[in-house]
Amino acid sequence: MSTLRTDTFTCVRCGLTVSAFAPDGARRNHCPSCLHSLHVLDHAEGGPSECRSRMAPIAIAVLREGDWMLIHRCAGCGELTSNPVRQDDNQLILMRMAVRPLAEPPFPLEPFGGM
Ligand SMILES: [Zn+2]
Ligand SMILES: [Zn+2]
Repeated sequence: MSTLRTDTFTCVRCGLTVSAFAPDGARRNHCPSCLHSLHVLDHAEGGPSECRSRMAPIAIAVLREGDWMLIHRCAGCGELTSNPVRQDDNQLILMRMAVRPLAEPPFPLEPFGGM
């Protein structure tokens, strides 16, 4: 038996075996294929979380430096977290989330028609 630690986790949604490190060496916490995560860290207290519920990607936030952040919401406790987007994350899902607010504005667009 090898004692070598394998830094992988299994995606709770699609079952993909995910390396805990992105190609650039940065630690990742979400699946690059479906972008789902698991609530294992308590972001408010900075320690491990008892929750361990599935976290769904709900939005993209762009920081002032231009970095893209992925916003997750926990299905169990509702906590929101933000994590850096990694270079091999599913670009189709990322783009879909990035344009969703433009496609579904929370106000009627009609007034702009007469401008
Ligand atoms: Zn997945
Ligand atoms: Zn949770």
